[in-house]
Amino acid sequence: MKIGFIGLGAMGFPMARHLAKEHEVIVWNRTREKAERHSREHGTMLAGDITDCAAGDVIITMLPTSKEVDEIVDRMLSSLRKGTLWIDATSGDPNVSRKTAARLAEHGVAFVDAPVTGATVGAENATLTIMIGGTPEDFERARDVLRLNGKTIIHVGPVGSGHAIKVLTNSIMGATVWITSECLLLAKELGIDLKTALAVTNAGSGRSNASENLLPMRLVEGKWPLVFKLAHHDKDIRIAASLAHELHASTPLLALTQQLFSASLHELGDQADYIEVAKIVARMNGTSW
Ligand code: NDP
Repeated sequence: MKIGFIGLGAMGFPMARHLAKEHEVIVWNRTREKAERHSREHGTMLAGDITDCAAGDVIITMLPTSKEVDEIVDRMLSSLRKGTLWIDATSGDPNVSRKTAARLAEHGVAFVDAPVTGATVGAENATLTIMIGGTPEDFERARDVLRLNGKTIIHVGPVGSGHAIKVLTNSIMGATVWITSECLLLAKELGIDLKTALAVTNAGSGRSNASENLLPMRLVEGKWPLVFKLAHHDKDIRIAASLAHELHASTPLLALTQQLFSASLHELGDQADYIEVAKIVARMNGTSW
């Protein structure tokens, strides 16, 4: 099968590599050097122009937000072929993706939203969890391709539902990172060793991905790698909050989490990692880890 892959960032680069094991993959990236490197290192075809990706039976986008996806759709619309499946793996906005799907349908192109979870390590190891919104037939087509990227592939519902559940689960994670950081800081202020506080948390009911995997390296070892941009996480929580707003739902903790993440983004800048919000938790208390 031919696959046009657009967006070779932290996630897209390894995802396209796995797809190239079984398919002919044509890669395009805004910064061309990354696509050249991908082609050189993984035997993928370098797109001369973005419209070359329209030769794919499947087109995959892995971009920051639905806005960039829509811009790419605009650039490719006149080159698209009937029967193509567009898989948008971006963590996007369900309202925008429904409009995009309708626009593509006019050109005979099917669309599924297929955001992923599992971080860069999941993309590297092809162990992502992938949540898909689309018709059952399009889901099956997408699954047949994305099985090279993930172990767990779930059909969530119609177009938009993959994007919806993705931003909701990331909001759960955001709130968890924040409250865990607050409580660990308090433990430290109370004279409890951080390693001990984490050991107890992870042996008890406060345990989470944040306490087990994300915070120990940063808080104890002082290593703060960039694996998932805070800008992307903030975008996800903002989409979740806007969905709640549309539904007139009462979600005070989600609203607060959104405010805290947006304020942290202003403070830390768009190249910060999302777990760096723990630094803001400390700063708000006049201290550091
Ligand atoms: P990166 O910032 O690493 O990569 C973004 C990609 O989009 C790059 O290829 C970049 O090109 C391209 N891009 C940015 N702006 C434009 C534009 N205006 N036009 C065309 N291309 C553009 O992001 P990630 O790979 O980390 O994330 C991608 C998506 O996956 C996001 O929606 C994110 O929320 C989601 N996600 C990320 C996870 C992670 O752990 N990183 C985990 C799960 C989901 P260039 O190289 O030129 O900058």
